[in-house]
Amino acid sequence: MKAAIYEQFKGPINVTQVVDPEPSPTGVVLAVKACGICRSDWHGWMGNDPDINLPHVPGHELAGEVVAIGSEIRNFKLDDRVTLPFVCGCGTCEPCIAGNQQVCDHQFQPGFTAGAVLPNMSLSNMPTLILFVCPTRSIL
Ligand SMILES: [Zn+2]
Ligand SMILES: [Zn+2]
Repeated sequence: MKAAIYEQFKGPINVTQVVDPEPSPTGVVLAVKACGICRSDWHGWMGNDPDINLPHVPGHELAGEVVAIGSEIRNFKLDDRVTLPFVCGCGTCEPCIAGNQQVCDHQFQPGFTAGAVLPNMSLSNMPTLILFVCPTRSIL
């Protein structure tokens, strides 16, 4: 698959071929169909976010289709159109169970702490309950 990637802060962003991800048993792989690029991505590219490790594929405002699912996934199926929040909780700790995934101690932020958000993004460590099925098929 192809991805926009930068290898140094403030450096060039190149579209290049990267390895296709495989889902973990509790993960899914999305074919990203739309992704916004915002000021947070710009700050990341400028080197202002210590959570970003290089090389990096930016983009955290995304929607896509499920193209591969892990063996333990039950809530989603292939071709489901989904999006995800800015902050993703682990889904199993006390704050997550209480509905406060935004303060999860094990959270990750796609496109920042979770490494790259790739065109076919592997949500390998993400519980399925924090994916949201898009209400209409016409948005993608
Ligand atoms: Zn943003
Ligand atoms: Zn949690």
